[in-house]
Amino acid sequence: MTDPAPLLLESVELTYPDGGRRLTALDGVSLAVAAGELVAVAGPSGSGKSSLLAVAATLLRPDSGRVVVAGRDTAGLGGRDRARLRREHVGIVFQQANLLASLTAVEQLLAVEHLRGGSVREGRRRAEELLESVGLGADQRHRRPHQLSGGERQRVNIARALYGGPSVLLVDEPTSALDRERGERVMRLLASVTRRHRTATVLVTHDRPLLDHADRVLTMTDGRLGEGS
Ligand code: ADP
Ligand code: MG
Repeated sequence: MTDPAPLLLESVELTYPDGGRRLTALDGVSLAVAAGELVAVAGPSGSGKSSLLAVAATLLRPDSGRVVVAGRDTAGLGGRDRARLRREHVGIVFQQANLLASLTAVEQLLAVEHLRGGSVREGRRRAEELLESVGLGADQRHRRPHQLSGGERQRVNIARALYGGPSVLLVDEPTSALDRERGERVMRLLASVTRRHRTATVLVTHDRPLLDHADRVLTMTDGRLGEGS
C-alpha cells in the first residue's frame, strides 16, 4: 500500500468578487502530489497559478472541493487550526524573498523557531546546517539580505521554508527575479531539496526551460489544470 499523498486537491473551485459578479480563478482543479515529487505548473499570467498555491497553503478557502494537507481535510478547520497546520506542514517560497532587512540569514530561520515557541539555541545548529545544505557558506550565513545576491537571498528563503520540516513545499515563480544561470541553479536546488526532504513540492513558473527539472509538468489555462506542457 502506498502512503497517502501529502497534498491532495479534489475538484477545487475558487472565485473572487469581481464587481457585481464572481471571477472564476480555479475551475475544478484536482491534484495529488506524492512525497518526494516535484510537480511544476506552467501557464500564462492570470491563469490561476498563485491562486492554486494559496488554496493549497490553506491561505484561501475554496468555494467548493476538497483540500487535504498532510492527511488533514482542511474544510472543517478554523483560522487557528489552519495556521497551525501551515506552521507544521507547509513551507512557502514566494517570488520575492520577503526577508527581514535587519536579520542575518541564520536569524531569518531562528525567527521561525521563535514563532514556533522552540529553543533558539538548538535552532541555531539546525539553521546553520540547513543554510549550508542550500549552498550558503559560513560567512554568508551571517550576512543581512542587502549583503547577499538575489540568488543567495532565494536560497535563504528556501532554507527558511524547510526549517519547520514541511511535508508540503509550495513555490511561486522562484526564479523570476534571477538571471538564467542563477534561475537554473535555484531550480536544481529545489529538485534536490524535494528528494532529500521528501516534500510534496508544487512549483509554479512561466519559465519553460526550468520545467525539465520537474518530475511532472502540468499546465494551467483559465483556472483549469491539464496534463503536459
Ligand atoms: P497567476 O498566478 O497565474 O498569474 P492568479 O492566481 O494570480 O494567476 O490570478 C488568477 C485570476 O484571478 C486573475 O484573473 C487575477 O486577476 C484574479 N485574481 C487574483 N487574485 C485576486 C484577488 N485577490 N481578487 C480578485 N481577483 C484576483
Ligand atoms: Mg502568480
